[in-house]
Amino acid sequence: QPSPFLLSVNNIEVIYNHVILVLKGVSLDVPEGSIVALLGGNGAGKSTTLKAISNLLASERGDVTKGSVEFRGERVDQLTPDALVKRGVVQVMEGRHCFGHLTVEENLLTGAYTRKASRAEIAQDLEKVYHYFPRLKVRRQSQAGYTSGGEQQMVAVGRALMARPSMILLDEPSMGLAPQIVEEIFEIVKDLNQKERVSFLLAEQNTMVALRYANFGYILENGRVVMDGAADELASNEDVKEFYLGLG
Ligand code: ATP
Repeated sequence: QPSPFLLSVNNIEVIYNHVILVLKGVSLDVPEGSIVALLGGNGAGKSTTLKAISNLLASERGDVTKGSVEFRGERVDQLTPDALVKRGVVQVMEGRHCFGHLTVEENLLTGAYTRKASRAEIAQDLEKVYHYFPRLKVRRQSQAGYTSGGEQQMVAVGRALMARPSMILLDEPSMGLAPQIVEEIFEIVKDLNQKERVSFLLAEQNTMVALRYANFGYILENGRVVMDGAADELASNEDVKEFYLGLG
């Protein structure tokens, strides 16, 4: 029975270096058009889950040893990362990963690499990115390595948009950024979700902020989902508050 969700992760297990069991059967669903938060502390397995979905584990000596991943009801766990991008799933890695020596605009253009797009289409997509990230338009000719951390995060998301994704896997966008910039980035995520219908799976340690923007959340602990629920329910849950919101 194919999954009715946009993305379904079914009971995946991940082992690093053939011995270290890091994900111990993780399942989650992302409904079309939603923002789903994947929460949990340092080392809980959030990044590993995203990389398992986008098949980026091989370069880190990680293997998915059990389970499956479905996108639009079809198995995608044997696809290369590029093939997955062509299907519409793009990952924005933790730590932003801009090409520091290229300009902001050149970085954005690299995001269109998997598409057979005309110059006119690419120009149109660039304008769309600049519409959502006006700061990047101002900085378009700046070397990305000399822009601020917030701007580099925007470049990373903007580059993902250039692939015309229907789903973005966004790893820890708030990392190392001032609260005001985090808000700015999450507002853009919300806009992209509402206006462009991009769905998001969002890995975040910043539980409070993520739950304000997400529709649904999963909490990972030590490679397992220990709790899930509607974002507002999780945000008001006493255990979640105590352990993750620092209000306990
Ligand atoms: P963080 O926000 O710190 O990245 P996380 O929840 O994303 O946390 P992961 O990065 O997925 O957690 O890491 C989960 C566990 O897997 C940790 O114990 C980590 O040390 C281990 N791990 C991650 N990458 C590797 C690797 N390449 N080889 C071996 N172990 C790894």
